[in-house]
Amino acid sequence: MACGMICCHGVSKRFGSTQAVDAAQLCVEKGEFVALLGPSGCGKTTLLRLIAGFESPDEGTIELVGRRVAGEGTWVAPERRRVGMVFQDYALFPHLTVADNVGFGVARRLRRERLAATLELVGLGGYGRRYPHELSGGQQQRVALARALAPEPELVLLDEPWSNIDPLRRQSLRDELAAILRRAEVSVLLVTHDREEAFSLADRVALMHEGTIVQAAPPEELYLRPETRWVARFVGESNFVRGRVDGEQVRTELGTFALTNPNGAREVHVLIRPEQLELQPDPDGSGTVVAREFRGHDVFYRVEVNGDTLVAQRPSTERVLLGARVRVKPHAERVTAFV
Ligand code: ATP
Repeated sequence: MACGMICCHGVSKRFGSTQAVDAAQLCVEKGEFVALLGPSGCGKTTLLRLIAGFESPDEGTIELVGRRVAGEGTWVAPERRRVGMVFQDYALFPHLTVADNVGFGVARRLRRERLAATLELVGLGGYGRRYPHELSGGQQQRVALARALAPEPELVLLDEPWSNIDPLRRQSLRDELAAILRRAEVSVLLVTHDREEAFSLADRVALMHEGTIVQAAPPEELYLRPETRWVARFVGESNFVRGRVDGEQVRTELGTFALTNPNGAREVHVLIRPEQLELQPDPDGSGTVVAREFRGHDVFYRVEVNGDTLVAQRPSTERVLLGARVRVKPHAERVTAFV
């Protein structure tokens, strides 16, 4: 089978009675930035460690940059997989300078040149003589990234690399590191449990649940066309509204919509995201606002309509009062249906 930078086929890994990874399928193409997203304990780190070669699969095969590295009798040691890795805890050698840390995995004859180029790339030119304890957490993480990039890997694996950075600095460090990775033109697999992070950084998000990749798609597709209710709920607040399918359309009490995924079922529930629901105050409206949650830039409303409760998300510049009667107006041309 044709293979990109990473190709995992039916990869499984069990620890005692725990099935950590269960027949996972995952591909990363050249130059792609893929986020491996999922709840705690779903197997993300284990899959990353299998790809890096720190664990061996019980079943399945792993190919990196077009060659088999694990499975069906093949085993390539981690240091021979030409993969850069960045972990949560930086894992720098405390007794080595920045220059020695970064140059560690680079052939001696290339060291000076690669060291200068990578320190410049991560914005730490001039820091080569410092020791890790003389740097901030964000700077240490940039050194860790420089170390991963110095041997010029084609693929970099990152495991929640900014989770130990204080929350105020996290976003800017995250954006900085993502920009560095883009400039370095490497393929990236980033493990995260943070949906917004995955959505804002990745070309594609591979969503993992109980050891399996349940859907891998560009962020907008994952959000608007999830393949299961679990995916729909994991990536955002969801309303599931009863509907009756009529050809390529579905009729609901909120209106009629085109279907993104006609599948033969007649009775369905359609997904409508909270921000797709406009609330128009109207004494004759069929909805009543039963809860109002102010979140800063927007407000979440719970609206009761004919016995069902819907969630609407509106900008906080709009103000709808608790108890108000409203008309609920959906803004969606096409919707995704679930049986
Ligand atoms: P988190 O986001 O919390 O880091 P994760 O999605 O990365 O979680 P993993 O760390 O891959 O999940 O763990 C998947 C499952 O395998 C968990 O139930 C975990 O307890 C178990 N597990 C992972 N490594 C081992 C190990 N070396 N020995 C035993 N069980 C393990």
